[in-house]
Amino acid sequence: MSVVVSRITRSDTETQCRTQALIEAAAARYEISYEVKGSAIADDANAWLAASLFPAMKLGETLRLEGLLDNQLLQGASRLQDIFHVWYPDLRKVSIESRLSDSSKKERPIATHAVGCFFSGGVDSFYSILKHKEEITHLLFIHGFDIRLDDQKIYQASLKAVHEVAEALGKEVIEIRTNLRDFGDRYVKWGEHYFGAALASTALLLSCQLKKVYLPSSHTYEHLHPWGSHPLLDPLWSTETMEIVHDGCEASRIEKIAQIASYDMVRKSLRVCWLNWDRAYNCGRCEKCLRTMTSLRALGVSDMPTFNRALDLSLVSRLDGSNPTTRIFIQENLKAAEESNDVSLAKALRKALNGRYSRIVRNGSERILRKLRPLFK
Ligand SMILES: [Zn+2]
Repeated sequence: MSVVVSRITRSDTETQCRTQALIEAAAARYEISYEVKGSAIADDANAWLAASLFPAMKLGETLRLEGLLDNQLLQGASRLQDIFHVWYPDLRKVSIESRLSDSSKKERPIATHAVGCFFSGGVDSFYSILKHKEEITHLLFIHGFDIRLDDQKIYQASLKAVHEVAEALGKEVIEIRTNLRDFGDRYVKWGEHYFGAALASTALLLSCQLKKVYLPSSHTYEHLHPWGSHPLLDPLWSTETMEIVHDGCEASRIEKIAQIASYDMVRKSLRVCWLNWDRAYNCGRCEKCLRTMTSLRALGVSDMPTFNRALDLSLVSRLDGSNPTTRIFIQENLKAAEESNDVSLAKALRKALNGRYSRIVRNGSERILRKLRPLFK
């Protein structure tokens, strides 16, 4: 059995470019498409390699693609597989076959000096676009990854904010809409495995427009761990004509917030929410909202209008301190709360770190945890 990517086609109109392909995996067939406004798109198979490599590894099946593949990307894909197999042994190394050989690869001149940066309106992407504001020419906004395709309300509000930020900075916006996540979610985990590859896939699609793309980091060099986007991984998606850069590991999340919080455009547009409970731009209740609101309070930033509810310390105290990623952010916020002498905030964060759930996780075996977990849902 193989994972096969075929029928890669393009259809352009005056307002957008569209490409689609058929992906066959484990006897299922997926019609995957990308619609792009604001950029031409490549007609090679590079984006489709990034889209399908990790699902193929999960299935342990040869990956066959109809289309041209970049030599450097093929070498990168080999190293990506080495790293991923060490991190996640159940993802096995697979062969990659392309119908067209390297010798048939046409030379493509670098047509551009444009530089892109993925921009969701969150802390990491605001930090990266402000850090590289002289160099970056395009903001890349995706509908279909963190914002569901059927969520028009959050999509429209986010898109408006992205265009306002781009206008304030004098940048262009490239809008990408794709159903790729529907495919990836069937085989691999979005955070741990796939979202970096999915972002790389959209960047590779834009390689005839952009020479470099920044992918904003989630974690500092101090707290790196196996994760779908990582400074070891992301550059390996680069091609001979496009560099992909994992950016921002030098700053913790609270350091990033401290650097961006005073900008007017951040106050108007900051969007961090994953869950959008109540269809809110920032729900104020999910872990990521609470993590950000906690940092803002610890830094003494009282006015962030995109959060339309006050920080609830009882929710902060119930954050899951046993989750390694959540724990890092709780610890960072606790340090800041102690430095600013915010006693009640520090107390809530300590409670989250030392809570009943966390204590059981630290002291208990995985077997006990599995039995107890339903009680804490
Ligand atoms: Zn939220």
